[in-house]
Amino acid sequence: MDLSFTPEQIAFREEVRSWIATALPPHLAALAAVDAQYGMKESMEWHKILYQKGWVAPHWPKEHGGPGLDATRRFILTEELELAGTPILSPFGLHMVGPLLMQFGAEAQQKRFLPPILAGEEVWCQGYSEPNAGSDLASLQTRAEDDGAGHFVVNGQKTWTTYAQYADWIFCLVRTDASVKKQAGISFLLIDMKSPGVTVRPTLTIGGTPSFSDTFFENVVVPKENVVGPLNGGWTVAKALLGHERTLIAAVGYSRRQLRRCKRIAAEVMIGGKPALEHPSYRARLAHLEIKLRAHQMANYRALAGAQLGHAPGPESSILKLVGSEIQQQCFELAADIMGENSLSWFNDPGVVPPLEQWVAPAYCYNRATTIYGGSNEIQKNIIAKWILGLPDR
Ligand SMILES: Cc1cc2nc3c(=O)[nH]c(=O)nc-3n(C[C@H](O)[C@H](O)[C@H](O)COP(=O)(O)OP(=O)(O)OC[C@H]3O[C@@H](n4cnc5c(N)ncnc54)[C@H](O)[C@@H]3O)c2cc1C
Repeated sequence: MDLSFTPEQIAFREEVRSWIATALPPHLAALAAVDAQYGMKESMEWHKILYQKGWVAPHWPKEHGGPGLDATRRFILTEELELAGTPILSPFGLHMVGPLLMQFGAEAQQKRFLPPILAGEEVWCQGYSEPNAGSDLASLQTRAEDDGAGHFVVNGQKTWTTYAQYADWIFCLVRTDASVKKQAGISFLLIDMKSPGVTVRPTLTIGGTPSFSDTFFENVVVPKENVVGPLNGGWTVAKALLGHERTLIAAVGYSRRQLRRCKRIAAEVMIGGKPALEHPSYRARLAHLEIKLRAHQMANYRALAGAQLGHAPGPESSILKLVGSEIQQQCFELAADIMGENSLSWFNDPGVVPPLEQWVAPAYCYNRATTIYGGSNEIQKNIIAKWILGLPDR
């Protein structure tokens, strides 16, 4: 396995880097410079700029409007965007339902839904979790009943629906047969958020953003052609989607950027008359994180080598999710520890907190969730134990 980049790949990295430097509008570059939290407005603005360039979906094949980049160039493009701190795009259309429709969707579904996802004209959200079905996802209770006239009638509640308040569409797991083993009676259904009977109740997070919602369905009528994949075969579709979601959470470039910020803060903050960076305990924590990130990067390259050969993400995506999410959290924990009382300040607090440190507190709070969403890390450990290490269930 050769993990080095070719001269052409290095040239591509340069091309991406210089394009970002000119394409990122000044007001977004100013937010990137202080690692501010972006809202949906900024994400969609950047989505459209990337779309114009043809780079909004590096992983989509040409036949569906993607740039047709090989796996290494896709990785380089994503990493450079993360390193530059550009707005993070909503993953639900581009990274989840889009690839799913390519794999399992009917041609008519692909034609209807893929172009507006790419163009940023329709925003999606994910309706998997329910109040009593998170880790044990197959226990979900939202029902879709056949009305005998070409529709399903949907009733139930989804929870933790990120971006539901902005979304035009939601992809849902629904129970279409309650008489069989729980995994065997689930279907993957696309629902128009403007349908009568859909109610969204956003929740304000401790990180200060209304990023997720409870979503309620009351007698919502959905055409039967909105089922993706076989009726009652949604469990296989659902698991394929989770592989894409978990690989995405690896976020090597994002963590590299956060670790760099951590080091800059450590060089700036004085403790006992010398920079935090010169204190052995902080140096040790930074070194530990650097080593963990390097190892994570190597694991990513190995997954990349598999992707280059055309393999879909397998159980190794659980390792990427597990380690990637831990690193993200630890970067913010370390930054907050070094900042001391300044880490109690909030958001854009100029004059109180130096610019580099202004956004650490909300990011620290929001990142408590990385080890939970996408399937909690305890569950990822179970998957690794069973499918990679071959350990027995109990
Ligand atoms: C910020 C955020 C955004 C989210 N966005 C979305 C979204 O857009 N769409 C969506 O559908 N969902 C979303 N989720 C939901 C997320 O996927 C679930 O929270 C997650 O899968 C855990 O499920 P739960 O919350 O029901 O926890 P539970 O399943 O109740 O688990 C509670 C704890 O018990 C542990 N546990 C449970 N079972 C086991 C086991 N068998 N072995 C070992 N430990 C176990 C868990 O790891 C966890 O620590 C989001 C969550 C968060 C926090």
